Order: sequence, then structure tokens, then C-alpha cells
Amino acid sequence: MMRKNMFHSKNKSQAPKPVGAAEDRLEALINKATNTTTAAIAEPQKMPVPLATSRYTASRQNLRVIPMGGVEEVGENMTAIEYGDDIIIIDMGLAFPDDTMPGIDYIIPDTKWLEDNKKRIRGVIITHGHLDHIGAVPYILPKLGDPPVYTMALTAGFIKKRLEEFGLLGRSKINVLTKDDVLPLGNFKVRFFRLNHSIPDSMGLCITTPVGQIVYATDWKFDHTPVDGKPTEFDKIAKFGAEGVLLLMSDSTNAIKPGYCASEREIGITIERTFSEIKGRIVFANFSTSISRIQQVFNAAAKYNRKVIVTGRSMVNNIEIALSLGYIKIQPKIIIKSEMAKKYPDSQIVILTTGSQGEEGAGLARIARGDHKTIKIKKGDTAIISASPIPGNERAVAVVMSNLTRLGAHVIYNKTLDIHTSGHAHQEELKLMIALVKPKFFMPIHGEHHMIVTHAELAQTMGIPPERIFSLDNGQILEITSAGEAKITEDAKIASGYVFIDGLGVGDVGEVVIRDRQVMAQDGMFVIIMTLDRRSGKLVNQPDIISRGFIYMKGNDDLIREVKHEVRKLVESKGKEKLEPNWAYLRNVIRDEIGEYLYQKTERRPMVLPVVIEV
Ligand SMILES: [Zn+2]
Ligand SMILES: [Zn+2]
Repeated sequence: MMRKNMFHSKNKSQAPKPVGAAEDRLEALINKATNTTTAAIAEPQKMPVPLATSRYTASRQNLRVIPMGGVEEVGENMTAIEYGDDIIIIDMGLAFPDDTMPGIDYIIPDTKWLEDNKKRIRGVIITHGHLDHIGAVPYILPKLGDPPVYTMALTAGFIKKRLEEFGLLGRSKINVLTKDDVLPLGNFKVRFFRLNHSIPDSMGLCITTPVGQIVYATDWKFDHTPVDGKPTEFDKIAKFGAEGVLLLMSDSTNAIKPGYCASEREIGITIERTFSEIKGRIVFANFSTSISRIQQVFNAAAKYNRKVIVTGRSMVNNIEIALSLGYIKIQPKIIIKSEMAKKYPDSQIVILTTGSQGEEGAGLARIARGDHKTIKIKKGDTAIISASPIPGNERAVAVVMSNLTRLGAHVIYNKTLDIHTSGHAHQEELKLMIALVKPKFFMPIHGEHHMIVTHAELAQTMGIPPERIFSLDNGQILEITSAGEAKITEDAKIASGYVFIDGLGVGDVGEVVIRDRQVMAQDGMFVIIMTLDRRSGKLVNQPDIISRGFIYMKGNDDLIREVKHEVRKLVESKGKEKLEPNWAYLRNVIRDEIGEYLYQKTERRPMVLPVVIEV
């Protein structure tokens, strides 16, 4: 199936909740935080020590590493690691659908194998708070018997919010870790190291197993001047490398990009310069999870004496979570409600919003369509889109930009100014990671197949022989023996497909339904209603034809007449081939033959639906 890279994209499910109440809460929180000068820091939960189980079984003396998702797309990241009687899970993400999946809201990994083995799951470790790593948590955790979750404070805040929205808060225990914790989970021991990414609290893992160590580094870059002042812990990575690493699993998102990824701080300099030059109002759109970017917007606003209006549900929620946990510092009284904007000159206003991917329901698109409750674009406004469109979203972003310019705004985006940098390492950083870790085996993860392959080639240039590099598909198994031999087990794949989420249904829409929707979207549908005599199998009257999205019936009388004639001929001839009338067989024949007939006449393939009414 065609998969595309659709993280943070058009998201039409989950009706937006009214934002007013959240705005009030945020304001109250800021006032509280700024009055006491330090934001309230949540009490970290005490980390329980899970029971160690070391009941080995003969067949389970090998280490098995299974990417459940995320190696054929940017999205639905999830990995299972198994040894002996123990399984640990890393991340539970979702992916957004592409144009080949009409009507689907999300895709999550197929977890059937884990459901069958849920008693052996010792814990779920979440690396960071992006939706392609936490989005499927509310869908999957309950299916696995609510195992305990281990993660850093900010990520825990985002996960709790998501579980709360699904009414699941309080079922799985969400344990808050700190970066120097050592987490024993059955046969495994997990240590952590800090990485840079476009969200704070991203962490890499060093997993000690009875067979050797795994370094797991998804979603990272090396930023020597990160905005939160917390650089990558190179010392730890080098130490793990010196201890000996059996397998490195590393981020392939930007494996095709040469050089180094720009530091987030450089974007801050551009933001400040832009704010100093713009005279009118500024509408600033970016990912609501990019807490460092948001911090830089507040810093620039404070420096140039602008008030900030925050709009968009996820922007308000995430700032609220980051503020309550002390991950963002907001200047006193800088946030105002949108109704207050009139009291200030345009040169003193910034509107911070979601929708940098052109998402229909997000703040920026609503502003651009003129449907925002309180914010109306006018001449002199400048809109800054501080993100690059994820492949597949370019068109939606272009529509939003055109709408903004029609309303008189000036639009600044990544192509006109360096207003965004990625959170994923470029080639030189990827090489440095390999050099520090010095793994025996290498598995590129987090990317579409071509990115994974490019990353594998990069690892070869670093001297890792091709037979030690494993590029897997979702659900394939890499097995490593205690003798240190690794192979992809060809005979076993624990999951193959995707689970589609459409509205409230999880997994009740399969590939057949998707294919039907594709056919209907492309060439419409063609319904043939036949009223047949139960005993003789003969047509009682003329077949009826209904078509939608295929041809305009009125102008095509001839074609419809010919089809009816063909149907009559088929019923007469095929009806006789069987002793008893067999409607299923007849429907199949009609579907195939009429489908072919329509294709010959029109070169289109509508979905043909033969309906039999027995009398
Ligand atoms: Zn990711
Ligand atoms: Zn990420």
C-alpha cells in the first residue's frame, strides 16, 4: 500500500472543544506562575521497581527486535523488544492517512501479537511527546491490559492530557522518569540520555539485554545551542559506545539531507529580526508541540513590546501543560485575550496559533478563511508560517497562504526566510552518532523506505558492512542470538497491516473498504437492480440502473439501454449454467462482465454493484 509521510497533518476527527474555558485557565495559570515567579512544578511520581522475571524458555533465548510501525512511513512509531519471558514496548504513535485512504482519520500499528502476549509486557517507554510517538496510546494501552508507562515529565503531561480526553486517565500508571534513572524491566535494564529535538524532554535509550546493548535513538538532532539550554549528552552516548553496543537504531527522517541541521537558536535570531522590522500585527503559526519555538516567540514579543494572543485548542493546551511543568517561561501579563486586542496598536500584537500544516480546523486556516471568532485579517498584517509542510500537506498550506494574501496579509514562510529548522539530524550528525556508538549491527528506523535505505548506505560509508545492516518492514523480526549472530527471521512476521481508525471505529475498516472508497472516489458507482423469479431465475422485469459519480444518466440513454440488454443476456445464459439459481454466482458474473463492458465503452471503472431482488 502507498504510504505517505503525514505526521501532524489534516486532522478532522475529535471535535474541537470550546477554547474559551482553556484560555481562562491558561490566563489564571500565568498569573499564578508569574506572581510566584516560578511555575508550579509537578511532583514527580515515585518510580516503582517492577518485578524481575527471568523465566527463560528454550525458544526465547534469542533477542528479538520488532518494529511494529514507523519503518515504512514517518508516523505510527512503535517497537517491541523481546527476550525470554519479557517484552518491552517503545512508543505508541499514530500516522495520518494519505490520499489513497478516503475517510480515514488515523492509522495505528497492528498489535494483535502483543495482545496475544500481553501478560509478558513489562512496560511501555515513550521517548517524547509528538503524536507519531504518543498518538496511539489511548487506542492501544487498553488492548494490552493497561501496562505501566515510563517517560519524562513533559511527555507524561501530554500523555495524561490525551488519556483524559479519551476518558482513560488512571488506568495505566504513568511513571515519571528523570534522565539519570536506571529502569529495570524484567530481563532488560534501561538507561536514558538526553537528545535534542523540536520538543523538550526527548530521550534516547540504552537497553541492556542478556545478549548485548541496544542504543535506541529516534527523533533527534545534535543542537549545540538548544533554546532550553539542555544539549545532547554526548558523554553518555560515548560511554555506551565504549561499553560495547550490539545494535544501534537511529532516526532516518533527514537521512537524505546533507550537512548539519540548523540550531533552533538561529531561528530565534530570525524571529527577533523579523519582529523588529514588522510594523503591523503578526500572526505566527507553528506546531503546538514546538515548545522551544513558542518560547522564542514569547521572548521576541517581550523584547519588542508586543502582547501575545494564543489561539487554537492544542496550542492553548500544550502551553498550559509546558507552563505548569516549568518547561516554558512566560513574561508577566504578556498574554492577553483576543477581545483585548483592540486596546493595543497593531504594532503591539502577536497572534500565536496552530495550523502551520494547513489543517482545515486549525487556527490559521480559520483566520485565513475569515471564520475566526475574534481575529480578522486586514491589510498590514504579516503571517509567519514557521514550519515546513510535511510531504502531502503542500497543497493545503498553499491554499491557506493564498487566502491570507487575498485578505491583504503579507506571508512569510520557510522558502522566503529561514523561519523553521527541522528536529531531525542531517547526514553529518547521523554519521557522528554511528561514530560515537560504534555498533556491531545497525537498524535505520523512523522513515519511509527510501530514507531508511539512504541511512543504511550512510552507515556503510562509516564502515559497517552491509551484512550487519538490517532494514526491516513493519512487523518483521530481527533476531540476535547469544552467540552474536543476527538475522531477519524470514518465516515470521508478527503483523503485516495497519489498523485504520474511522470516526469511533478502531480497526473495523479494512483494506477492502479502503479500496472500495478509492474506486468510488475515482470513477463513481453503478448499481444494477435485477428482480428475478425465485424458481426459474428469470428476470421478472427490466433491470434498473442507478449511477452516481460515473456518467450523467440523461445524456447517456444509449449506453444505459445497452447495459440493460447485456444484463438480460447474462441472466439468461448464466442462469442456465446452474441447476439451482445461485445469486452470488450471478452477481459476480454481472459485476465482472458489466464492469468490463463499461470500461470498453467509457474507459472508466466504476464500482459495479449488482443487486438481486427475489420474487
Ligand atoms: Zn517522530
Ligand atoms: Zn518527534
